[in-house]
Amino acid sequence: MSDKLINLKVNATKKQEELLNSLGLDNVASFLSKYPSRYVFLEETDLVDNAKCVVDAKIISVPKIVFYRGKQNRITFDVLVKDQNISVIIFNRSFILKHLKATSDITILGTYYKDKNQIVASDIKFSKVSDIAGVYPVYRLNNTYKNSDYHKLVLKVLKENINNIDNILPDYLISKYRMLQRKDSLIKIHYPKNETDVKLANRSLIYEELFLFSIKSYLVKLNALKNKKIIKEIDFDLVNDFISTLPFSLTKDQQTTIEEIFKDFSSEKIMNRLLLADVGSGKTIVAFISSYMMFLSGYQTAFMAPTTILATQHYYEALKVFKNSELKVELLTSKTSPKEREALLNDLKKGKIDLLIGTHALIQDDVDFKQLGYLILDEQQRFGVNQRLALKKQNPSLETLMLSATPIPRTLAQAYFSSIDTSIIKTIPKFKKEIKSYYFKSNSIKPFYQEMLQLLKMRTQIYIVTPLVEESESLDVKNVSDIHEKISNHFKDQYNVSMIHGKMKDDEKNDIMQQFHDHQIDILVCTSIIEVGISVDNANCIIIYDAHRFGLSQLHQLRGRVGRSIKQGHCVFLSNSDDENAINRLEFIANNQDGFEISEYDLKTRGPGDVLGLRQSGIPEFNIANIARDFKIYEIAFSDALEFIKSNDFKPWYALYHDYVINKTNQIG
Ligand code: ADP
Ligand code: MG
Repeated sequence: MSDKLINLKVNATKKQEELLNSLGLDNVASFLSKYPSRYVFLEETDLVDNAKCVVDAKIISVPKIVFYRGKQNRITFDVLVKDQNISVIIFNRSFILKHLKATSDITILGTYYKDKNQIVASDIKFSKVSDIAGVYPVYRLNNTYKNSDYHKLVLKVLKENINNIDNILPDYLISKYRMLQRKDSLIKIHYPKNETDVKLANRSLIYEELFLFSIKSYLVKLNALKNKKIIKEIDFDLVNDFISTLPFSLTKDQQTTIEEIFKDFSSEKIMNRLLLADVGSGKTIVAFISSYMMFLSGYQTAFMAPTTILATQHYYEALKVFKNSELKVELLTSKTSPKEREALLNDLKKGKIDLLIGTHALIQDDVDFKQLGYLILDEQQRFGVNQRLALKKQNPSLETLMLSATPIPRTLAQAYFSSIDTSIIKTIPKFKKEIKSYYFKSNSIKPFYQEMLQLLKMRTQIYIVTPLVEESESLDVKNVSDIHEKISNHFKDQYNVSMIHGKMKDDEKNDIMQQFHDHQIDILVCTSIIEVGISVDNANCIIIYDAHRFGLSQLHQLRGRVGRSIKQGHCVFLSNSDDENAINRLEFIANNQDGFEISEYDLKTRGPGDVLGLRQSGIPEFNIANIARDFKIYEIAFSDALEFIKSNDFKPWYALYHDYVINKTNQIG
């Protein structure tokens, strides 16, 4: 039975055991699941200019060593490779000098340079290539073990336990996909004979990991359903009355989302919902309507945004939306004066405030709600899990709605947030025109001066975005202050040019954003900090330098800063990158306005970190799978897992393997 492996200690010396513990490998199962992080494929090569080589060589001169700058040294000697006379140089290996004897046969690993007729060696082995050719796994060992020693220990443990390694995957799935037996996967992943072995083992182990992960996700969700809350009583007619006071009618997807939220509120289940939506699809109003439902049921709502600018913008929007209702809105940020703050906290405690909008200031210790029922997080990816938990302490049945900045495929979202339900808004309000988008393979803004001037004359404001604050080593990357200077010089006397970037103090940033909002600034040179949700109706042109340096989803977000009113939006992507992939990506986004399609394309070409912007907030960690790369496998594994859970075989299987389900995957949600 495989679950034995988890309870088995690795048979090792005391000292080895300590090292293994420090690597977190305290049982056979975890030890054998530490797969190599990469492989070195060692085989004889030809000598190709400027390329890596592995060759048999015979030493034909007496090696010389030169020391310089204290301990640094280099050894040089001549060799025969086949019949060619070549010089070899190797740095900082003084200790091999005594083994290097003229006439001896060695293998040289290094890089060959034809013009100098020289190999710069990275390693030298004292045997023939044929004796050492093979695949060498490399483990990430944090300097605990020598790789070769560790690899030997793996072999020993594999041998000792080979009869204990059973399949974890149900047999019918192994035969359905012609997976390797688990035993063979482990042998091949640690001791592959060739690249095919590595591929076969990977295929089986990736599927296995994603299958177990899927089971865990499902169970986590099931478990979340066990936590029940008091049903919120909401009269939907009153909600509809409120909706009819809005200056526009809702899109179909907005409507559906509101119904989904209503259903959750009206059930015993505690809502935990992620709203996936395209830029400009109107998430905010959905959030406001849902807070109105919460108000009708007698609870308070906290609405958190990542920046003061955004929170303030939401606050003014909310004042408009709720001006004819009984719902009372307030704003709390770090800019709120101590006196106002005190009064506000007092009102909050008494339940005189129904919707509190703000930044992180909302989760300070002394912020006490009378009856907090609901948390809304705008731009959810900017927040960590802890911030949600802070409010959950006040109310364990706190319901949450997270607004995502990036429209990601639903299945991917579910993979990342196991215990979360999702709503999708794809429809964009009817008045929206497509933003005219262009990609120019150039990094010069000059050709656009004329058009910019025309737009400025029509009172349009312009964003100019660049990826960097300061000059970087690579000179072709534009930076904020350079561009600011250039643009200011060009438009001086006629138009106000200003700049904003992440290194400025919050107050300064807020002031500039406010000025831009009030149209005291015509052109704003900025970094991607304006990416987050800002809405300036008059800003209808955005020009992005070095566009290839951004993820596509990020570019789509940036583009979403314009065309937010009925006026035509314009977006220019500048990049002089010659990289074919970069060119394809920029052409793709210039010709596509659908955020979901763009994020899917981004996912394929750049990976999930960029798409989700989740780096800080703890994406699930996988041992061998990579959810973006292996997304197809994940979808299959997920549906297989669901089917399996529903079958009669699941219970007995789970009794045996639950340790693998729990241990092997980390998950947030
Ligand atoms: P995002 O989803 O990017 O956060 P917002 O919530 O800021 O988008 O909405 C963008 C704009 O569209 C806002 O000015 C909002 O008032 C407007 N809007 C939202 N829903 C509708 C609708 N159904 N019809 C017309 N305009 C709408
Ligand atoms: Mg928004």
